[in-house]
Amino acid sequence: MILILAENTDTRSPDYKELMAYLDKLPGIQHRVHHVKGKERTVTEVYLIGSTKTLITEDMRNLPCVERVVRVSEEYRVLGRHKEDTRPTHFEYKGVRFGQDTLHVFAGLCAVDTRTHVEQMMRALRDNGQVCTRMGAYKPRTSPYSFQGYGKACLPFVFELGGKYGIKVIAMEVTHESHVDEIREALRKTGSPTGVMLQIGTRNTQNFELLKIVGRHSEFPVLIKRGFGITLEESLNAAEYLASEGNQRVVFCLRGMKTNLGDPHRNFVDFSHVPVVRRLTRMPVCIDPSHSVGARSAGPDGILDVFHVTAQGVVAGANVILVDFHPEPAKALVDGPQALTLKELPHFLDDVRIAREAYEKRTGLAQRYREA
Ligand code: PEP
Ligand code: MN
Repeated sequence: MILILAENTDTRSPDYKELMAYLDKLPGIQHRVHHVKGKERTVTEVYLIGSTKTLITEDMRNLPCVERVVRVSEEYRVLGRHKEDTRPTHFEYKGVRFGQDTLHVFAGLCAVDTRTHVEQMMRALRDNGQVCTRMGAYKPRTSPYSFQGYGKACLPFVFELGGKYGIKVIAMEVTHESHVDEIREALRKTGSPTGVMLQIGTRNTQNFELLKIVGRHSEFPVLIKRGFGITLEESLNAAEYLASEGNQRVVFCLRGMKTNLGDPHRNFVDFSHVPVVRRLTRMPVCIDPSHSVGARSAGPDGILDVFHVTAQGVVAGANVILVDFHPEPAKALVDGPQALTLKELPHFLDDVRIAREAYEKRTGLAQRYREA
């Protein structure tokens, strides 16, 4: 059960203290308080955990400070969609709205290599009206002998160039708490010219200690990838770890599944789950066509598979696209074979626009048929 308190409730007020004293006495029920900071207001939510079945919704609503009560099902308590749940399906970060109603492209380098490549990438993004990018500094690799990313050494120039080219949000994978500290420190030292969305990679989806740590750093939103060899339910529960620790600004990313079906792509593309995740949770849903397809193969129509699967995800309502580009893919230190080139950026964005228009037309059509 979630108690949503009246806007701007003062946690020092006698009413709030009375509420807490009451909750403390409820047998078999623990409570956890979350402050959800919006642009103009702070909403306080109290999560009741334990045997809440016996609690009467009406009684709880009559408690001091309580404005609304949401009875949640067992699953995905914080991020899930529940009956009569009017909590938002979007959040803001650095002036950018991420929601189940928006679409943003995070095109960029799988792994940061040279300053020149980062600058070429960011300039191309600015010239094409983009404000988000992906830039990997910490790379979890299958082989210990592969390039592991430049780590904190590259952060100052990445952030500085982000500011120079009007990039507001950079998606960047972290695999350890120290990476979060290094990112925060580098942002501080460079005057925070840009923002960072922390990325949890598919290999760490069930690294619960990492999830708990990242969940506590609620100044950064998080993009969590679906685990490539676990169920969707397990991956959504992983996202819930972030939220249960206090960070509700979470984007859920589909990136293809490992299968042994001899498939033509690096991973089995799972973008048909976009509407499923949007139905089960309040999270914006991301697709990663690059790590799903893993190659630059094209259909007989001359359209790259990466473009095709992106369109499939967008037509189904995806809200974020995380996609590998590189100014010189042959020189990329990680995942060059799947990278798109800067020349392909306007084509990619135009193709995405067509797919988004199709999605919008489809939702309009569905509404007309519902009302008819
Ligand atoms: C990545 O996005 O750079 C990455 C490593 O992806 P994944 O965790 O999906 O393999
Ligand atoms: Mn990669």
